[in-house]
Amino acid sequence: MENQPNYEYYMKFGISKHTVDVADRHIHSLKEVYEKQDRIREYNFLKVLDVMQSCHLSETHFGWETGYGIGDMGREKTEEIYAKLFKAEDALVRTQIVSGTHALTIGLRGILHRGDRLLIISSMPYDTIIPTLGLQEEDDTSLLSMGVEIDIIDLLENATFDEEKILESLDERPTVVYVQRSSGYSQRPAITIAKMEDIFSKIKSGYPHVRIMVDNCYGEFVETREPIEVGADLIAGSLIKNIGGSLALSGGYVAGRADIVERCSKILITPGLKKECGLSFGQTRSFLQGLFLAPQVVNAALYGSVLAASMFSELGYGVTPGSDEMRSDIVQVIELGSKEKISKFCKAIQSAAPIDSFVVPEFSPMAGYDNDIIMAAGAFVQGASIELSADAPVREPYSVYYQGGITKDHAKLGVMKAYESVLE
Ligand SMILES: *Cc1c(COP(=O)(O)O)cnc(C)c1O
Repeated sequence: MENQPNYEYYMKFGISKHTVDVADRHIHSLKEVYEKQDRIREYNFLKVLDVMQSCHLSETHFGWETGYGIGDMGREKTEEIYAKLFKAEDALVRTQIVSGTHALTIGLRGILHRGDRLLIISSMPYDTIIPTLGLQEEDDTSLLSMGVEIDIIDLLENATFDEEKILESLDERPTVVYVQRSSGYSQRPAITIAKMEDIFSKIKSGYPHVRIMVDNCYGEFVETREPIEVGADLIAGSLIKNIGGSLALSGGYVAGRADIVERCSKILITPGLKKECGLSFGQTRSFLQGLFLAPQVVNAALYGSVLAASMFSELGYGVTPGSDEMRSDIVQVIELGSKEKISKFCKAIQSAAPIDSFVVPEFSPMAGYDNDIIMAAGAFVQGASIELSADAPVREPYSVYYQGGITKDHAKLGVMKAYESVLE
């Protein structure tokens, strides 16, 4: 019994013996990939523990203030830990940052000055950033209307920077270079830290005054190094993705050069108050316990992504990245080819959830997104895409974006359910 796969219980979840066997065969053959990922997980665990110890994190930091939150020790310790973890000079880690998009918007407003040029070198950025830039609709709060000049350079095949074009287009103008690490709703793999290192060093050696910002959403702990270690001046991300380790209830962060983080704090709070205010609402414990668990949670998510890549590519679907390709985010893109299959896939993921498993996800419009979107996430934290989730905009080539799963067992179950649903 102990050595048998749990066929019977899986059957109860609508997963056939065949699918269980297929999954187990793939898991077996992915041994080397998983060993590599486990090594990264272990390294990042050590890194987190080291930082928490060297910052003297203590029980007293889990207490919290009221009102203005002046001198909130937990908030200050959290920001110290984040800064050290990312090798940054300073960081903002706040419940007042409502999402990744908000963190990125604060970051962009903080790093850019009036009249600067924003050079995006990773193709059109994530949907929800477009209104911040002001590229589609006129909005006098957008960066464009505040006098920022915006240029976009597309990535080449396989998420490679167009080095020639990038270096050619740099000149003496004050410029911020912007990179989106994760795929977003596109068909490319994530941009690896090694690729960033290569282009950032070339940019900085020719143009030392260029500032570099990276959208780090979905990227934390997938590799052993983070973007600031290879030359980024500012990074931003969401706490209900990788780095919150599934325990953070909300929030976002920016980290980087002290002068830029200070500008961000003036924008988030006020020019007079800067970092000094902002209640932590007792979230410090979950932020930091989440951070402690994050390397393991990211590892579980990757376990599912790699399994999905392997199983769906065997069925003939295009997958990005491939199961044994280098990863720098937790997202698995699967080109299902039709709206119906996307719908089936997302319904299967929803039905695998611990929360709202009986709810049926449908395509609908969503704030910040241009196309209708379907989202499956029966999560303990609403919208937390570090938990087992899948989403897709209704547009060519009808790919689904699968990610998350805070335990390996759950990730495996989700992938098997999704697999079963497209076989039907
Ligand atoms: C999720 C995500 C965002 C936006 O984050 P929200 O928290 O949903 O606002 C931005 N960029 C990338 C690459 C993302 O994956």
